[in-house]
Formats: sequence, structure tokens, C-alpha cells
Amino acid sequence: MEDQALIDAALSCGAAKATLLDQQQIVLSETFRAICESNQCGGYGKCWMCPPYIGEIHQLMDTVRSYPRGLWFQTISDIEDSYDIEGMFEAGARHAQVSSRIREKVAPLLKQPFLLLSCGGCHLCEVCAKQEDKPCRFPDRALSSLEGYGVDVYNTTKDTDLKYINGQNTVTYFGIVLFSE
Ligand code: SF4
Repeated sequence: MEDQALIDAALSCGAAKATLLDQQQIVLSETFRAICESNQCGGYGKCWMCPPYIGEIHQLMDTVRSYPRGLWFQTISDIEDSYDIEGMFEAGARHAQVSSRIREKVAPLLKQPFLLLSCGGCHLCEVCAKQEDKPCRFPDRALSSLEGYGVDVYNTTKDTDLKYINGQNTVTYFGIVLFSE
């Protein structure tokens, strides 16, 4: 698999930038579970693809470590200002759509099973079925988050070309496709 083919796939699906990471470049920390549990986003326990439903943090970190490489990508969206919660939510939904397109695009390029992690919860449905105590509507497409698996986005991206912050009145979200080859 050519690295550039994977990067081009991500860009063609709407990612602003993408790069390839080796496993040791992915920074993990169990502290992200406590951050999820503090419920600053207001979404803890409200989405099937968020804690506590996705599993124990150390097992999920081991899962991340089981893949030797990752396609690291970001979307950058405009918002009105730093209080534009609606704009941030729309940007999250857009990031989920880009992530879904990337999953479809890279599937034929990768020979082995892979794992796609997006950012800050699933976002595929306007309201997750968990909030109605119903099963997930799209279990084959549902997106877990980097944070839920213990990925430290800031420290993973700081030595790459993908900036964590991309200017005033923008919001940046990240994702990764973990793969073997
Ligand atoms: S696909 Fe819909 S129902 Fe399933 S986890 Fe995502 S938001 Fe919830």
C-alpha cells in the first residue's frame, strides 16, 4: 500500500490535511476516561459509541497499540466565534460524514481489518438511539472517538504538519484509521 494513496483518499473525502503515523507517534493516556466521566461535553452515557458503553480504557488502548500504523487526518470548519455551539455541532456532524467517507474509501486499499476513530462521539445521528434506549441504528457505521480510546490528540499531532488550532473562528477535529498494511 502506497502511503500517498491513503493520504489522497482522506483528502478526496474532505479532510483538510492527512499524514501517516507510526504506532510510537500515537500518544495515549488513561486520563481521558476521567475527562469523559466529568461530562464536560454533556454527552457522557448518551451515545452508544461513548463511555461507558465502549469498554474499559486499558483494553481500548491495547487495541490502538495492536495496529502498527495510522492514517491521521483533520477537518477544519468555520464557525462564527468561540461561543458558536451550533456551529461546532454542525462541524462535528460534518467531520463524522468525512470520517464515514474515508472509511469507505480506504476499505478497498487496506488488506487487513482496520479501525477508524473519529472525534468527540459518534455524531452520525442527530440524536443517538441510546437516548431512547433503542439499539444503534447503524452499527456497521457508528464512530467511536479518539478520546474514548485514550488517544491524546494534542500530543499526537504536535510534531506533525497537522496543527491542533487553525486560526480564529475555526474548529478543527481529528480522526485516525488504524491499520496493519
Ligand atoms: S449510529 Fe446513531 S444510534 Fe448508532 S451510535 Fe451513532 S449516533 Fe448512536
